[in-house]
Amino acid sequence: MEHTQSHTKTTSALSTGSDAMTANIPSINPANGQVMGRVPIMSEGAVKEAMSRAREAQRGFAKESVHRRAKRVLEFRDIIVEHTDELVDALVKECGKPRLEALGHEVATVANLATYYAKHAERILSPRDIALEVMKHRGSYVRYEPLGVVGIISPWNFPFSIPMGDVFAALIAGNAVVLKPSEVTPLIALKAKELFDRTTLPQDLFQVVTGDGQTGAALIDAEPDKVIFTGAVSTGKKVAAECGRRLIPCTMELGGKAAAIVTDNVDVERTARAIVWGAFANSGQVCVSVERVLAHEKVHDELVDRVIKLVDELRQGDPNSDRTDVGAMTFAAQVPIVESLIKDAVDKGAKVATGGERLPGEGDYFKPTVLTGCTANMKIMHEEIFGPVMPVMRVRSVDEAVELNNDSHLGLMSYVFSKNTRRGCEIAERLDSGVVMVNDVLSAHAMPETPFGGIKQSGFGRVHGEEGLRSLCRIKHINYDRISLGKREPVWFPYSASAYSALAKATRVLFGGGNIIKRLFQ
Ligand code: NAD
Repeated sequence: MEHTQSHTKTTSALSTGSDAMTANIPSINPANGQVMGRVPIMSEGAVKEAMSRAREAQRGFAKESVHRRAKRVLEFRDIIVEHTDELVDALVKECGKPRLEALGHEVATVANLATYYAKHAERILSPRDIALEVMKHRGSYVRYEPLGVVGIISPWNFPFSIPMGDVFAALIAGNAVVLKPSEVTPLIALKAKELFDRTTLPQDLFQVVTGDGQTGAALIDAEPDKVIFTGAVSTGKKVAAECGRRLIPCTMELGGKAAAIVTDNVDVERTARAIVWGAFANSGQVCVSVERVLAHEKVHDELVDRVIKLVDELRQGDPNSDRTDVGAMTFAAQVPIVESLIKDAVDKGAKVATGGERLPGEGDYFKPTVLTGCTANMKIMHEEIFGPVMPVMRVRSVDEAVELNNDSHLGLMSYVFSKNTRRGCEIAERLDSGVVMVNDVLSAHAMPETPFGGIKQSGFGRVHGEEGLRSLCRIKHINYDRISLGKREPVWFPYSASAYSALAKATRVLFGGGNIIKRLFQ
């Protein structure tokens, strides 16, 4: 096994482009710095070729019924489930995440989503009749037809569940997929492709193109019929602009700054456990991690005391051990970002209640950190941390917390804690977020029945749920004659004064305000 110092060093070398020495990417185990393997940076030509092979395979697949497609795609799920341990091993090594997280957040989540869509796709995608209110002599129905080839560009924090959930949805909807995985974690995507190739599905239906941002750009350049992008806001803006230039529809799943609003009426033990898991699962590298806690002054001190005790009990270390709670950070370049946000907060008066530094020794570990005394002028209360840090701010009222939650350029997920669930939902309705959970954290992304996505700079479009599946289809409206009006419709040529007067009367009768009898004789 090779050793390397950090991803930062390696990826900056890669960004120099065409040098033959840098034409491949190493995948590095963040727990020990070992190079696990290398993947090529695929050329524009190779990406275009993958696209045209996918396009060819999709033509036949799209003709199959939804029922048959769903059944066939389940073969892929079955192979994934059969190889659970192998996938977990690969995820632990490539991401540094604990085994339970690799299983629960990645493999099991994908199997759940595949099963849900396979079971419900026929209903969700079946043609839908629309009753016309006025033109009752016409009939309408909507069909959900495959788009063609979906380009998926994915990040490193959930390198299996994020792209593979979208892959399953796209396939069941009748599309082919070309996936460009993150350059930080490319091996797991190749493992998924290897498992896909063991099914009886056409191999070209799902392709993986490895490389960096340039390969992602080449994927858009190859003109897929839709792009699902998950990643940073700054990259999302570039990808959306490129898609816009080509009028390619896209879904943008970008960053988050989830606030946990803790009201004055909470079960402190449950709330503390929830926010500790929400902030430190996957080493805080979750787009919906608890990124700021807004705690009501009545419960603040008790909550903070309990949180610190729970954090101090967390076991950090070898991700391959069943007893590890917090693993390594997947991407070394993220560590200095976390450090600089902590420094800014401390410079402005925050206190490091626990953690605050890297774990000594090999590997990219950062200690679970709690910052107290945080205030709205600190960067850490606004910018995405994407690391194991929980900043806590004391608030005087729920209204203040709602205002702080909404004072953000991001709006992916928020959390509300209250013993009164109804009150919790009322607060949830006031929050500018795509998803809000009351008395729980993170897991909404693993509920395949529900739409997931953000507002503001967290992105647009939805994955998962009925909305997500339908967004992978062309919506075709077919309108037909239920009752024939003979040779011509009243609004066709030739126009006449009598046609005008009849239409004017109909407009008044149908849409005018006030008394219907009066309108009839106007
Ligand atoms: P990133 O934006 O750096 O990279 C994401 C992907 O985009 C990678 O595959 C990368 O190679 C590719 N890419 C880079 N430049 C490109 C370009 N010009 N054209 C096309 N593709 C390009 O993001 P990351 O660091 O891998 O992921 C972390 C970010 O993702 C965080 O901000 C996190 O919040 C966000 N995220 C969002 C969600 C969500 O569902 N909303 C989920 C997970 C992660």
